This record gives sequence, structure tokens and C-alpha cells, in this order.
Amino acid sequence: MKDRKELLAGAGTDTRLCHIGYDPSSYHGFVNPPVVHASTVLFPNVKTMETRGQKYTYGTRGTPTTDALCEAIDELEGSAGTILVPSGLAAITVPFLAFLSPGDHALIVDSVYSPCRHFCDTMLTRLGVEVEYYDPTVGAGIEALIKPNTRLVHTEAPASNTFEMQDIGAISAAAHRHGCVVTMDNTWATPLYFRPLDFGVDISMHAATKYPSGHSDILMGTVSANAKHWQRLQEANITLGICGTPDDSYQILRGLRTMNLRLEHHNRSALSVASWLEGHRDVARVLHPALPSFPGHEIWKRDFKGASGIFSFVLAVDEPTQFKPKARAFLDALRIFGLGYSWGGYESLAVMVNLDDRRICKAPTDGPVIRLQIGLENVEDIVADLEGGFAAAAAI
Ligand SMILES: *Cc1c(COP(=O)(O)O)cnc(C)c1O
Repeated sequence: MKDRKELLAGAGTDTRLCHIGYDPSSYHGFVNPPVVHASTVLFPNVKTMETRGQKYTYGTRGTPTTDALCEAIDELEGSAGTILVPSGLAAITVPFLAFLSPGDHALIVDSVYSPCRHFCDTMLTRLGVEVEYYDPTVGAGIEALIKPNTRLVHTEAPASNTFEMQDIGAISAAAHRHGCVVTMDNTWATPLYFRPLDFGVDISMHAATKYPSGHSDILMGTVSANAKHWQRLQEANITLGICGTPDDSYQILRGLRTMNLRLEHHNRSALSVASWLEGHRDVARVLHPALPSFPGHEIWKRDFKGASGIFSFVLAVDEPTQFKPKARAFLDALRIFGLGYSWGGYESLAVMVNLDDRRICKAPTDGPVIRLQIGLENVEDIVADLEGGFAAAAAI
């Protein structure tokens, strides 16, 4: 095991993705780990049972399948430990429940994934946690918002739907001066393009539903902690009785093997579509951190190794904000793009973005915001499909 770790430490990304969570000699030489369906695990005698003197004790506490995936994620994140949860949303709520108590104050980025806001404004507030939203561009200025009872600072970069960047290193340093836990939703970049723990983040969260799954057929979340916070995270997971299922864990591990290849394709295609959109007369703005025109691009360039396949653009149309007939016509005319939530699968998707819940970074006023996930289809076909959308919007 130690030899493997050393081998992987110096290897390239694709090599690492092929050999993390990989241990054929433990499974009679079969390349992949078995899918272990389990509740009960048997013990050879009472003493072993009383002392929990064997590696596996019960299905909720890990199996060879879930362990293989957690090891793989730890390798990618540089974390001390990883838990698996049933969705990306649970990858946010479980650590919040692990680290926050009544009377605590939590700072949440205003451009957060909106179901996270819903959790904060309902259940977390009901449990007596004081929630405050902050501007994603605050940087080291976060320090002025920290109160004696601030316990947790939650980040997400780039932002959901509008893609604002955050200076994660500066925020982490300021938060740590006051003893806060720093959490980050790193779903957009995956650990291949950004490693939160290297920038001072304590807890990195992912919707593995997105790129690790890659095929729009699995829901799963992963939460990875540094050494200081691992025990408390793991305890919360066991206390809440939350665990990853064997079949889904197997599929996510399988997805990781090709994730870099898929991401490179998403990255390249999305950038060429974004650049094309930037020159289109019916587009007011393109919200993509890898475009030099985008505010926050410098942070992206400094801290991130790549960009994934999801970004937004603002349609340059003068229409009432309520019904948005042109944006609707644009979306309804698309034939390659599906209209649907989530992203990270092989197929292109489009949605009209609703930013009504924002308090600080309000919705753009220059037109409706449309979010695109650029899939693995040929770019020429994707562009032709978008052309069809623009034509339909212009005809209204
Ligand atoms: C999709 C998403 C989630 C939630 O993932 P689910 O598995 O759909 O619950 C969390 N954070 C971000 C940034 C997401 O895009």
C-alpha cells in the first residue's frame, strides 16, 4: 500500500485516476473491487465482536467497495478521510450539522447553490444557527464579518449559475485566525482542477452526481476533511446513519477512471462555445471564469488548473423580466440540448436561471440568464443547435 502511494504521488493525472482505489491482489486478482451488498458482518468470536477487532463491522460503517472509493477521493483531495452521502446536497448539510451548534453564526456565500440556502434558511435557522450571507468577492474582507460566535465559513467557487470567483486562500487564512471551520463546495472544478485543502479549506464537498458519475444516472455526495476535522465529520456521519450505497459507489469509482479525459473534452468544447457566444450579437455577456473578459478571471488563472463544461450567458434582449418570451423561445427551440437540472453527464443541457433568492449578488439586469452544460457532442452540432435557439428568439 505504501509503495502504491509513493508511485502515485509522482504520477500524472491519468495514471493516478487509473490506479487510485485499486488493489487487485486483495480480490483474487480481479481488477475492480467487488460490489459488496451488506448489512451484517460476521465475527469469529465474542472477543472480536466486543473489541471491534476486525476491519469491517457493519454495512453502514464501510465495505471494501465504499473504502475503495473513499481512498480514491482522499488521494485526489489530499484529505485525511472521506465520507459518502446519498446526494450532493447531503454533502453540504451533513458537515453543517457536524460543525454547527445552536448559538453559532455561519457565513455563507450569497452565490451559493440554492438548495444550500434553503437548508440554511429553514432547518439550520430552526436549530438556532444564525446565518449570514456574504459577497463572493469579499476576499480577505471576510474578517470584518467574523463575530465571536462565527463557527463556519462556507465557500463555493465559481458560484452556482453566475460563476463569481472567490479568493479561497485569503478567506481561509482570515477565517482560521478566528478559529472558524472553512468548507467549500468544489463540484464545478472537481479535485482535478482545484484542490481546496491546498488553499486552507478544511472540508471539501462534492456532488459526485456531476463529473465523477458522468452519465446522469447516479446521485452521490462526497465530503473530505483534513486531519484536524476528520474525526468529527466521521462521527457525525455515523451518528446520522448516512452511508453510500454499494452499487453507486462502484459506479462513481468507475466514472473516476475516465474523468480527466471527459473533463478535458468538456473544458475545451465549453471554452470554444463560450468564445463563440461572446462574439454573438444576441449575447450581452458570457459568465465563464476562463474567459479573460470575466471579472474574477485572474483568480481563476492563479488558482485553478482548468475549467469544466458549465457556464452561463446573458441573452441581449430587451424584454419584461417576468415572462421572458425570447429566452423561452430560445430554450424551446433547442434539439441537442436537453432542458433539465443537474450537469456533468455526457449530454448538453440548458436551463433558465432563477436568481430571485439572491440578496447581495443580484440577477443581471441586462437580460435573462441561461446556463449551459456543454456535453461530449461535436462542437459544430452544439453551435448549430444554439444558432437555432437564437433564430427562434429573434422571430418572437
Ligand atoms: C448539483 C449540485 C449540488 C447537489 O448535488 P445533488 O447530487 O443533485 O444533490 C451541490 N452543489 C453544487 C454546486 C451542485 O451543482
